Amino acid sequence: MQKRILFITLIVTVAGVLLFSLLSANVYYTSSLEFAKTQLKRYMLEFDEAAPFDAAGAADLSETLLGARVTYILKNGTVVADSAGDAPASFDHSNREEVVAALYKGEGFSVRGSASVHADLIYYCVRVDQTLRASDGTIYDGGLVRIAVPTLSMWSIFADSLPTLVWFVILVVLCCLLFTWLSASYILKPVAKLTREMAGSGGGRVSTRYKELQPIVKLMNEMSDELKDKVNKIKSDRELEMLVLDSMEHGIVLFRDPRDILLINRTAARILDYEPEEPVRMFTENAEVKAAISSENTAAVAYRFEERDYMLRFTKSEETRVLLITDITESVSAERSKNELIANVTHEMNTPLTAIKGFAELLAGGNLPVERAQQAAETILRQSDRLAKLIKSILDFSAIDNDELPPYAVDLSALLVESAALFEPRLREKNIAFSLQAESGVTILTRRERLIEIVNNLIGNGIRYNREGGSLTVTLTGGAVPELIVADTGIGIPEENLSHIFSRFYTVDPSHNGEGGGFGLGLAIVRKLCRRAGWDLSVKSRVGEGTAFKIIFHPPAKSSAPQNVK
Ligand code: ADP
Repeated sequence: MQKRILFITLIVTVAGVLLFSLLSANVYYTSSLEFAKTQLKRYMLEFDEAAPFDAAGAADLSETLLGARVTYILKNGTVVADSAGDAPASFDHSNREEVVAALYKGEGFSVRGSASVHADLIYYCVRVDQTLRASDGTIYDGGLVRIAVPTLSMWSIFADSLPTLVWFVILVVLCCLLFTWLSASYILKPVAKLTREMAGSGGGRVSTRYKELQPIVKLMNEMSDELKDKVNKIKSDRELEMLVLDSMEHGIVLFRDPRDILLINRTAARILDYEPEEPVRMFTENAEVKAAISSENTAAVAYRFEERDYMLRFTKSEETRVLLITDITESVSAERSKNELIANVTHEMNTPLTAIKGFAELLAGGNLPVERAQQAAETILRQSDRLAKLIKSILDFSAIDNDELPPYAVDLSALLVESAALFEPRLREKNIAFSLQAESGVTILTRRERLIEIVNNLIGNGIRYNREGGSLTVTLTGGAVPELIVADTGIGIPEENLSHIFSRFYTVDPSHNGEGGGFGLGLAIVRKLCRRAGWDLSVKSRVGEGTAFKIIFHPPAKSSAPQNVK
């Protein structure tokens, strides 16, 4: 802006000085003409009608008038004499402006260039009506006397003043520029200060003591307030959006290309290991993902991260691509466990079925001696029992999920006594010393069949995996949080198997799956029942020394009133 002001000042100053010079030259020219006219009129007074009206007379007069050009002309325009000698005698001057004016009005002026003096001449011509005489006696009935002196033209005046004018222009321009620069700086200073304040205020309000700038400041403050409101609104909208997006369990990414991520929520950033300002590595390195990104249709890629399964679904909308990441771990593991269950069940069923089929074929042959036939029939019965047990265990296991029957207070102390009595024959068979140390009247809010399932499985295992002549101790303590411990002095469980014994169909020694062993479902049922009730189930074991299972019966969070004690 300052440069612009300086430039305009420069143009205006130079133009002004030039115009002023031209006007001055014109004024000077006009006044010098007036002066010359006055001088010529004074010169004309020197003309004497009695003096010879010929070349000699003209030369004399010219000499008297310090070399002014003197021309004698007849009334018909014919030149009689010319002191300058460039108008020959008898030359016709009747059309000269000053001559025409003198003939009609008595006198006339004109200014013209003259080739002889190479300058402008101002002519003054006067009509003389008296009789005029030449030296040779020729008589003229009046005539015209013209006196001319050189004068400067306006342009020559201007040209003469040019060197001075140039210096003057330089000086004036410098002065004007300096003054303009100072005044522009002075005027612009508060504006610059205001701009600096505005920039430094971080969108805050500014003020000025200059009255002229106050409307601008008011406008700027209003605009700044409006802008701040809009920015805050956008910020809070954005924060809200990000809050919603970040709290989503799904990952979402909007991007133009791997380097141009428009939006990414927290879940997606974690799964894709996203670093701001860095390209998403998976988008550039994973061939499947690259193909999905460049696909025109929706494309899905399965991805495993931190032990979980995700589905990455890429869709395209114009220039933007959207990636939706869904956690499919549950459905994948449900599918996997369903497949495992089918495989395990068919495997477990296969052994008794093969035995039943084999012995049934033998019996069908009809040639077996009675003793072998009886053995075959017994085996078929045993294997059928086993099959029935397996089916019951599977049904019990899956029935737990659908068991929504209401709980009631069950006397666990009494239930333990009853169970122990039922196991009596098996205990005796293995010569196991059984000890029950149970506080009486310990009740648990559950259903009787659930507790029977747990107790029977734990005591049954304590006998099955015990050694001949070993011991089995069942301890029950009451109080706010009752605890049950079933400890045996049996074979124990190796450390590396401990974490698996609660899984379905898991047996430490697979050979136990045979005729005498279980199906690996007992502890899975116990764990499932404990989990549903919110009880803690734990196990401690040492190979060759024994195993102890412990259940802590935490009361339910929302205790429902016990209906009756069974
Ligand atoms: P199973 O019907 O085979 O006994 P369980 O689910 O009850 O199935 O037990 C799973 C496995 O845990 C058993 O096969 C066994 O190897 C081991 N186990 C369970 N209880 C004991 C115990 N008291 N002592 C030693 N090993 C045990």
